[in-house]
Amino acid sequence: MFFIHCPYCHKQVFRWFYAGHKAKHTAVQPDGQAADHITLAPAKRFQGALDDVPKQYKHAKCGVTTEMPEDHVRSYLADPFLYDGTAFCCECSQYLPYEEFTWRETEQSLEAYFRDLQAEYLTKHDGKRPPRPAV
Ligand SMILES: [Zn+2]
Ligand SMILES: [Zn+2]
Repeated sequence: MFFIHCPYCHKQVFRWFYAGHKAKHTAVQPDGQAADHITLAPAKRFQGALDDVPKQYKHAKCGVTTEMPEDHVRSYLADPFLYDGTAFCCECSQYLPYEEFTWRETEQSLEAYFRDLQAEYLTKHDGKRPPRPAV
C-alpha cells in the first residue's frame, strides 16, 4: 500500500506525496471554486446517455444558472452519495446547500433530486451504500 488512488485525477500517487498532491487539487481558485473535485474513475461512471438528465441548476437567491460538469453528472449517477450536499454557484462564488438550487430543466430542487437518486441506489443495492473514496 505505497500508493493511493487519487480520487481527483485517478492517478496512483506515492503515499508520502499524497498530502501535497491533494492540496493542489483542493486549492481555492480566484473564482472561489476548488481547482478540482473528486469524481469516480472513468470506468466506474454512468456510461449511458444523458439526454434526459438535468445539468443546469439555478440558485434561488441570485437567479443565476450554473452548469454541472459532465464528469460530476456521470459520477453521481453511479454513486449519488459521492458529494457532500452542496453545489457551486458561479455568481455567488460559493458552495451552497442543495436546498438553495433547482434544476432549470425540471424545476425540481437539487435536494429532492439527490434524495431520490440515493433512495433508488439503496433499493437497487439491498440498502448498502457505495464504498467511500479514499480522500
Ligand atoms: Zn490527483
Ligand atoms: Zn448564487
